[in-house]
Amino acid sequence: MNIAEDTLCNLSLLNYPTRGRPPQNKCQTRLQAKHWTHCPEHIPSTNKKEHPAKRCHVCVKNNIRSETTWQCKKCLLPLHFPKCFEMFHTLQNY
Ligand SMILES: [Zn+2]
Ligand SMILES: [Zn+2]
Repeated sequence: MNIAEDTLCNLSLLNYPTRGRPPQNKCQTRLQAKHWTHCPEHIPSTNKKEHPAKRCHVCVKNNIRSETTWQCKKCLLPLHFPKCFEMFHTLQNY
């Protein structure tokens, strides 16, 4: 288990404190997001499939057979968006 990566993964845009920041920092913070934020994206198409679907990481853990066409751009794990995506990045036991 990579602890540093795990901590990074728990930091998401959803939790990021935006209140109480001076307005002049807004622009900077906006662009810094690309270094740490976890963005959803469609699973890239392959030669075989134009819209590939994979079993959702959170659902697999909860013994649910369900596929998603979304993945986390940073973790590269298939996740339903927005529900499982949010749970995966905000809960210790998702
Ligand atoms: Zn799911
Ligand atoms: Zn992620």
